[in-house]
Amino acid sequence: MSSNRAVRAVASRWCSTPSIATTYTALRHGGTPEDRRRLAEPVAPGLVLAGEATSVDHPGTMHGAWASGERAADRLLGAGATGVVVVGAGLAGLAAARRVRDRGGSVVVVEADTVLGGRARVDHAIGVPVHPGAAWVHGEVGNPVAESAARLGVPLHPSTGERRLVVPGRGLLGPSDVARLEVWRIDVERRLDALAAAGPDRPLGPVVTDVLAELPLEPWEREALGCLVRSSYENVTAAPIDDLSLRWRSEPYHLPGDDHLVGADLGRIVDDLAVGLDVRLGVTATAIRAGATPGRWTVATTAGDLPAEAVVVTTPIGALLAGRPSFEPPLPAVTLGALGRLTPGIVVKVTATFPEAFWAPARSIHVLGRDADHIPAWVDVSVVSGRPTLAGFATGPEALALEAADEPALRALVDRCLAPAVVELAG
Ligand SMILES: Cc1cc2nc3c(=O)[nH]c(=O)nc-3n(C[C@H](O)[C@H](O)[C@H](O)COP(=O)(O)OP(=O)(O)OC[C@H]3O[C@@H](n4cnc5c(N)ncnc54)[C@H](O)[C@@H]3O)c2cc1C
Repeated sequence: MSSNRAVRAVASRWCSTPSIATTYTALRHGGTPEDRRRLAEPVAPGLVLAGEATSVDHPGTMHGAWASGERAADRLLGAGATGVVVVGAGLAGLAAARRVRDRGGSVVVVEADTVLGGRARVDHAIGVPVHPGAAWVHGEVGNPVAESAARLGVPLHPSTGERRLVVPGRGLLGPSDVARLEVWRIDVERRLDALAAAGPDRPLGPVVTDVLAELPLEPWEREALGCLVRSSYENVTAAPIDDLSLRWRSEPYHLPGDDHLVGADLGRIVDDLAVGLDVRLGVTATAIRAGATPGRWTVATTAGDLPAEAVVVTTPIGALLAGRPSFEPPLPAVTLGALGRLTPGIVVKVTATFPEAFWAPARSIHVLGRDADHIPAWVDVSVVSGRPTLAGFATGPEALALEAADEPALRALVDRCLAPAVVELAG
């Protein structure tokens, strides 16, 4: 049994990182894609926001962030700016800076952290490479991350294997039960689509509860299906299902093609994007100030003031809403309104290594429980770390405590959440 216990475990800390304070964004109930469109519009002549939250086509993704940076740069270059300061060296900021430089402009990037990549990075805190943030290329066709991987010879690993569903007290579901739950899950989606088309928008959570109550299910099936539906929404959107909009619950995020794990070489893609750029690490932009004349900006930083004709701010929305950096004049009400209709998201990714894989090759393992600190969804990421490794996705406000948990507490949580799966999959 002890060989099925976690050896090392680490949790991501995006929500408690002051310059990020965001995992990935979703539309709250009351928000619409128009809010993202609004955020992509220039805030003022020479000032543009970028980053995943500003992507209408593919929010919450690496490729959406990358494209948003290029779009922001194109806007400023199109308006005649040639001297640009970019705040943030995640994919959006680096893509923006690269576009400015490639089109003949001059550009300085300031990055609060001491490493590049923002939410797209590889971490070695537990002695093996893990992704605290982005890990999958969602569709390789037209995906700049996949194109860069191909050019650099960075392997992409297909996400293969079955999804295992374990229901505590009932065990590992067989193929016919899994297929039956999938049929019901599709039925729930159809009913949600019909309700979304028929009436005014509503918060998603109560509607899902009502829809589940209508289905002719055994009690265990209703419980399991409810967990599956909730956890899949909460993983994809990083938002509690009660905060989400019925109508806009499924924003687009996938490009044509399959899911692939980028692997331990994600940093090479980031580094390549940054080649030749003037990136100042460990420098935080504290204020963005408009000058007395149009086309004159000052970016106040912890390393002094930087003058600019134009500024791209890629600060994630949790930090922006907390006033980091500040804006003079303040961000207009329309921008603040649009930001407020997005949720910054809460996902804590808990990655754990094991002495042996107690699971047969599997894409993911779902342990469909409902305790407050239960982590239902686990994905096999051994191909990244080179060891038997699972990454779990904790969502909802309770998950925030995990960002501060020490490693023994995290290991104990991993073992507790996976215990029903260990019994079933390891025998
Ligand atoms: C747990 C998790 C899992 C994810 N999984 C996937 C996935 O599998 N596939 C996928 O495509 N996407 C995934 N994403 C989403 C993806 O990581 C993001 O959409 C993308 O990386 C965001 O890039 P960005 O440039 O918009 O923001 P960021 O990467 O957050 O970059 C912003 C940068 O700005 C810096 N900054 C902020 N404020 C300041 C300031 N005042 N001064 C200086 N610097 C500042 C920050 O330090 C940061 O480096 C995941 C995200 C998380 C958190």
